[in-house]
Amino acid sequence: MNAFIDKMRRRAARYLDVRPVAVRPTRGILSLSFDDIPVSAWTEAGPILAQHDVKATYYVCGGLSGGRNMDLPQFEVEHLQQLHEAGHEVGCHTYEHVSTLTLTPAELDASLARNAAWVAERLDGYEMQTFAYPFGDCALGSKAVIDTRFLCGRGVRDGVNRVRADRNLLQAVGLESRRLPGYDLEALVEDTAASKGWLIAYGHDVSDAPTPYGCRPEDIDRLIRLARAADLDIQPVAAAWRMATH
Ligand SMILES: [Zn+2]
Repeated sequence: MNAFIDKMRRRAARYLDVRPVAVRPTRGILSLSFDDIPVSAWTEAGPILAQHDVKATYYVCGGLSGGRNMDLPQFEVEHLQQLHEAGHEVGCHTYEHVSTLTLTPAELDASLARNAAWVAERLDGYEMQTFAYPFGDCALGSKAVIDTRFLCGRGVRDGVNRVRADRNLLQAVGLESRRLPGYDLEALVEDTAASKGWLIAYGHDVSDAPTPYGCRPEDIDRLIRLARAADLDIQPVAAAWRMATH
């Protein structure tokens, strides 16, 4: 029963309190993002990004630092500092990695404030500008909270953002081994270029033997090569937002 109610609540959030934004970049854009930040999202993906001179967005939960999540070792503070210094964007993913379906708007706001303070303390006052919903779960009442604090919020519903998007619930495709076989990445990238859209990809762990939520290094490499071949601009989420919604 709870699963059914949660499904209805996710659906309500998808269709209600939509704050539309025109997505019209001068050329198509790809953003790469990593949620939670398992260690390998930095140690394995970082060198590939550097090799292609690509900046990504890492969605961090302060509360996961130095711990384990989904049975994977998570980032240490020094990893976060390294990726920040390398020019990657750091975005917010709540402090505790908690579904917004389980929080009141006030509780969500408190979690965001806690994460903002935690990050600012470790990244020299840095302020996060974009948000990704843990588990992709968006409660209707959370959208206004995200709207107040961030440029935009990203979910996990498949699709390319174009023409008109919901700024607090952007669509994205999963760089996840459980989802990748179902995508035609080449067609997605070409479609994004042709329609001048904004394709956001998200992943978790990066390894030759990834979890269902992670991908292989070569998957990232391939997507970057496809995007370059299609002349997509590859930008972190906040920078892409500014280019797409100018
Ligand atoms: Zn997450």
